[in-house]
Amino acid sequence: MDPKYVIFLGPPGSGKGTQAKRLVQETGIPHVSTGDLFRAMKVMDTPLARRIQDVMNRGEYVSDEITIEVLKERISRQDVREQGAILDGFPRTVPQAEALDQLLAESSLQLSAVLFFDITEDEAVRRISGRRSCPECGRIYHVEFDPPEVVETCDADGVALVQRGDDYPDVVRERYQVYLAKTSVLVDYYREKDVLIDIDAMRDPDRIAEDVAQVIAQE
Ligand code: AMP
Repeated sequence: MDPKYVIFLGPPGSGKGTQAKRLVQETGIPHVSTGDLFRAMKVMDTPLARRIQDVMNRGEYVSDEITIEVLKERISRQDVREQGAILDGFPRTVPQAEALDQLLAESSLQLSAVLFFDITEDEAVRRISGRRSCPECGRIYHVEFDPPEVVETCDADGVALVQRGDDYPDVVRERYQVYLAKTSVLVDYYREKDVLIDIDAMRDPDRIAEDVAQVIAQE
């Protein structure tokens, strides 16, 4: 099968990460999340890693130059070259989208689809600020939608749950504003290229997953 490159585009909290992970499980196409790649750099404790951490905790974007470099390295690996990628959280700016166009064109590849997950700012805050994770096993909970049996404690290992530094409500509002200012233009960018598919992301995750699976099967 030819490699498939699919972009999951949308504001923070729109469920693109959750849906990307589900699709990865179903299709085996590698999940490429620049946010995950940056978070993985945390343990490196270098000046660059600390700068990136600071930027993320303020809800701002990492520079295009660094982001494109990190993405380029990831998509040059064999798994992506063979199977393509579910791009989750990249591109987030026009220069990033242009860089991706160029990288794909250099290998005579094309985007299969851009799925646009849309939600309101208030919904983003409701979803994200309730998110908690276990520092031991990485399991994700939600205080309202998927709470642990004991408040703020992991069911699997009894460890106290933590909240991501950029998941506090005021940071989520900042992230949403940055999305509107820098990323929402990509909706028109990809609509004009006739690859954009609208997904109503305010619905139940299972309904959304059905739509996503159907769209991908057609591509
Ligand atoms: P995410 O996990 O996709 O919500 O990303 C978390 C944070 O990582 C973002 O709020 C940004 O600070 C940074 N980040 C992730 N992807 C990008 C990107 N494509 N461009 C710039 N910053 C990014």
